[in-house]
Amino acid sequence: MTVHEKLKELEDRVAASAHTDANPRQVDALNELAWELKYADSRRALDLSRQARELSEGLMYLKGMAYALRNSAACHWSFASYDAALSDALEALRLFEETGDDFGRAHAMNVVGNVHERLGNHSIALEFHRKSLHIRQELKDIEGASTSLNNLGNVYNSFGEYANALNNYLESLRLCEEIDHKLGVSRALNNIGYIYTRLEDWDKALDHLQRALILKQEIKDRQNEGLVLIHIGNVHECRGDYANALEYYTRGLKITQDVGDRQNEAAALNDIGNVYQELRDYQKALSYYTQSLQLAVAVGIKYYEIKALINLGAMLSKLGDMRQAVEHLVRALAISEEIKSNDLIYRAHQALSEAYEAQGNLGSALKHQKAFHRSREQVFSEDSANRIKSVVIQTEVEKSQREAEIYRLKNVELARAYADLRDANEQKSELVEQLREQAVVLDRQTKEDALTGLFNRRHFDAQLAQEFSRARRFKRDLTVVMADIDHFKRVNDCCSHQTGDEVIKAVGQILRETCRMIDVVARYGGEEFVLLLIETPAENALILCEKIRAAVEAHDWRKLHPQLGNVTVSLGLSDDLAVENPSLMLAAADAKLYEAKRGGRNRVCS
Ligand code: GH3
Ligand code: MG
Ligand code: MG
Repeated sequence: MTVHEKLKELEDRVAASAHTDANPRQVDALNELAWELKYADSRRALDLSRQARELSEGLMYLKGMAYALRNSAACHWSFASYDAALSDALEALRLFEETGDDFGRAHAMNVVGNVHERLGNHSIALEFHRKSLHIRQELKDIEGASTSLNNLGNVYNSFGEYANALNNYLESLRLCEEIDHKLGVSRALNNIGYIYTRLEDWDKALDHLQRALILKQEIKDRQNEGLVLIHIGNVHECRGDYANALEYYTRGLKITQDVGDRQNEAAALNDIGNVYQELRDYQKALSYYTQSLQLAVAVGIKYYEIKALINLGAMLSKLGDMRQAVEHLVRALAISEEIKSNDLIYRAHQALSEAYEAQGNLGSALKHQKAFHRSREQVFSEDSANRIKSVVIQTEVEKSQREAEIYRLKNVELARAYADLRDANEQKSELVEQLREQAVVLDRQTKEDALTGLFNRRHFDAQLAQEFSRARRFKRDLTVVMADIDHFKRVNDCCSHQTGDEVIKAVGQILRETCRMIDVVARYGGEEFVLLLIETPAENALILCEKIRAAVEAHDWRKLHPQLGNVTVSLGLSDDLAVENPSLMLAAADAKLYEAKRGGRNRVCS
């Protein structure tokens, strides 16, 4: 059955049931039609969902109510009304849990995930899509599982993890092919094509997109045919073939207008504007951006309203109309903040910073440049601490402060999601509990070294930066110690790598036990440790280090491994706060450590 035929059948069912007395089947028909129309005609779908909801309330038909809420959540999502979408989706989720409808639960989780994706809360989005995938796998709902995989791909895509995105899309494709689910196959092909475009592999991109296009035409999925055409236009635009880009965008635009798909119509208008901007036909670009903006405002699609404002602002700034440029960009920023989309917030800051710079207003430019970095990092460091490595590092202090800020924001984020869920789920839901645990685990993981349970290097660096400036400001003592296990290679060589790990753990424990609670004890990497001794001058630190050295030497290492000889450590310390920044203080301790090694190891140098 084609998409078109399916829609027709659903319309007929709704029309037929309109003449009967209110009954659950009527609600089901409304809900099914609303679901099919959720993106193609979101306004009507929202209206149908509202009808379904009112009917089911009269009938006390919980299932109908839950699906109606799921549908309206999806519609709100497409209007970028994220608060409304989240609240409906969570209410649907609660009802699905109450009625034990796992199929519905998976659906509601998907919508919640999609909202968080748009808001830039990537790790939460991934979590919901993964849970949804899991439920669908248990239910053996292959079509549903393929959708979850597709959504997971979308999240990875939106924060630039193309390899992960591709893997999920490919898995989704495999499942859809297995059950001959043509709509899903074409969806996956379209998304894979998009990823190849981002990876600048034009041939593969076009190959997948053309296959998607043929399938869309075969199943008469007109709406998504428009989207595929737009994506093909994208490939041409990226490779600089503007004539072809315009042709495909225009074809895509025409279809979106025919089927009343306002969201993608706004996207196409925006893309055409981009091409004209490349061609330096600024009048045409201005006209298309303006059309996109007007459409987005009229239909209420905030996402594209912001995009159009940003593009318009950037262009007006190029044309020298600074007043209007700034006006547009400030509005873009305000709306992005209103819908809490980190993704768009950082783009708005970036554009504002560039506009102010062109204007020669360097103070404001700098302010937005900083805000740009902050909000961008929030998006790109959201998922795993590893992502931070891509951040441009200026000085160690700045880096530590920034990282501390990221962790703070991440916790705020989780706390907010937790509060949202708690309100909506009356504190009962299993999800809330999991999310809370996850927040605790995540917070710990970001600070902890997995092997020893000591703090990790990142946390140490952040603490050092903080304590360094505090000690300087209030003229307090502070000592930094670097410790390194002597001839550690021999431990690995003579016993095993595993024994080596055990030795590292044991030394870590001795350090923790010897230091005070308020001292920061961290594993700096490999077999190196660092200590931050608060309110401690070098003389006292020296005594402590000597204690540590002796404790390691006296430890009964043969208990760990019969061939294990003596294990010793060398330590170097510095309490010199006159250096320019904390990493120089650490470097001074490291130089002392080197001195201890040269002097024969198993000793302390200060
Ligand atoms: P020195 O006294 O000069 O410090 O000698 P060393 O052998 O300890 O020096 P080096 O820093 O050259 O070697 C450290 C070795 O520690 C190299 C590496 O294979 C090993 N190592 C690093 N991390 C780990 C780990 O997590 N577990 C284990 N088992 N070994 C590690
Ligand atoms: Mg070493
Ligand atoms: Mg060593």
